[in-house]
Amino acid sequence: MSGDKNDISEVATRSASADADEKRYLRAWTRLRRCRVALALSLASWLPAIMVASLWDDYRYPAAYRWSDVVARVGLAVLVIEVFALSFTRCPRCRRHFTWTWYWKNPLTKECLNCGIRQYSLPVRE
Ligand SMILES: [Zn+2]
Repeated sequence: MSGDKNDISEVATRSASADADEKRYLRAWTRLRRCRVALALSLASWLPAIMVASLWDDYRYPAAYRWSDVVARVGLAVLVIEVFALSFTRCPRCRRHFTWTWYWKNPLTKECLNCGIRQYSLPVRE
């Protein structure tokens, strides 16, 4: 009788652990997708933002004080931050960097470059 009770609690513990794993995977995929979308939007909008800001440039001042230059610098800083955020996104299975290894980088990869898990896949349940 007590063996049955232990089996049930063991199954419940394993199920809770599997749920936690699934949530961890979903959080990792959401983070990876957000980093990629943010980087794509920033890349696409950087040059148009500089062009729009140049409409308010006052050429009596040095280039470093013009709106287009300020927007370019801020946009570049944002791009660098986003590239770092994408690069340091961890794989939920192997917990190493998803998009790079010590000899190879691919920010567009759909598989972890360390363990090969496909993006958006969930942990295998027993
Ligand atoms: Zn991995």
